[in-house]
Amino acid sequence: MRKSVSLLFFVLSGGLQAQTDYDAIRITATDVLPGIWYLQGDGGNIGLSTGEDGVFIIDDQFAPLTEKIKAKIAEFSSEPVKFVINSHFHFDHSDGNENFGAGGAIIIAHENARIRMSEDHVISILELDQLAYDETGLPEITFTEDMSLHFNGHTVQLHHFGPGHTDTDAVIHFVEANVIHTGDVFVRYGLPFIDVPNGGNLNGMIRVMHGIIGLADENTKIIPGHGELASRADMVAYVSMLETIRDRVYEGIKAGMTLSQITATEPTRGFAGGGFLNNENFTKIAYDSFFK
Ligand SMILES: [Zn+2]
Repeated sequence: MRKSVSLLFFVLSGGLQAQTDYDAIRITATDVLPGIWYLQGDGGNIGLSTGEDGVFIIDDQFAPLTEKIKAKIAEFSSEPVKFVINSHFHFDHSDGNENFGAGGAIIIAHENARIRMSEDHVISILELDQLAYDETGLPEITFTEDMSLHFNGHTVQLHHFGPGHTDTDAVIHFVEANVIHTGDVFVRYGLPFIDVPNGGNLNGMIRVMHGIIGLADENTKIIPGHGELASRADMVAYVSMLETIRDRVYEGIKAGMTLSQITATEPTRGFAGGGFLNNENFTKIAYDSFFK
């Protein structure tokens, strides 16, 4: 399993030559608002809330990092982690589940996330195995459309706007604080990965993005799945990119072109670069999205 995780890191990092050295990873914390941070190390951004009710986190990265993550949280609170919310089932966001679950945290996720975490999976394009978690790593509380937590003075709403990055996605909205953790529906590494075989699709991702944008205003602080803190305007630009590429691919499909013919028109022109997806593999994702 660790081998798979390292390979994912290899791919997500755009081709680092070495396997992940977890001993070398540092966990950093960035202030969002008083009592809310996001932590970065390796894998997806971790949302953190501390306060009178204790500690909860959104996502928990890779299992070898759990102790470092706990040590960073201890700088802000002496309480143990009470809840872990998973933004979706991918292991760069949820591989700490077994550790946090064994430590007494209650894991919350979309119903489909529990189902997918209960089974072995291959993550498409990356061709990586994600093996089933044991019982301690599985969500104990699941939801299908919406649910709310009332914790640390926040109303924390979890929304599932339908399939997007996967069919397990949760958007986490701190209503009064005006903070949203988007999971991997919104990322800042370039063209986004969409896990089509595991229920994601481009049109869905666009629909979910409009749902998130509808929750936001110009003051909303957006914690993306990967990358730095963002704004509503950043999300508007991102969804515009997705729509432009989607429309270019659809024009090709309507004209009866094959995938390779559409790829040759470079539907991602003007946008590609920065991440591990390129014109070829992102066009395939967009194309496949029309046939799922
Ligand atoms: Zn993901």
